[in-house]
Amino acid sequence: MTSHRFHLQKYVPGSKTACPKCGRKACFVRYVDEQGEVVFPEDVGRCDHEESCGYHRTPRDFFNDNPGMVGQIENQNIHYPQVARSLAPSFIDGSIVAKTQCGYGRNPLYRYFCSVFGKEEIDRLFSLQDKYMI
Ligand SMILES: [Zn+2]
Repeated sequence: MTSHRFHLQKYVPGSKTACPKCGRKACFVRYVDEQGEVVFPEDVGRCDHEESCGYHRTPRDFFNDNPGMVGQIENQNIHYPQVARSLAPSFIDGSIVAKTQCGYGRNPLYRYFCSVFGKEEIDRLFSLQDKYMI
């Protein structure tokens, strides 16, 4: 996990800029992309004056505000918003599904299908799902 792909820029003379919040000079450290793919706006960084200013806009904040950027990053091996990708599939237990298989006369989707394909065909198709129930 390359959790340190985005980090605060290492200090070199002149690398610190004016803080976008408090405006003081040479106190603002920007975030950089280790892989050089993402260039963050100038307000993504941290102010040295943690007590009096406290400005800190992280790459995570930036990606939350710009979700479209995430898909544009080629290397998805970062632990930002792609968490859902690694989730295992989940299933609803068959006994719970079986309890929903009633009252079709009140089911708008069932009634819609019946109006399009005919009740006989829909009843046949709905009965098939019982065969494939795990
Ligand atoms: Zn500041």
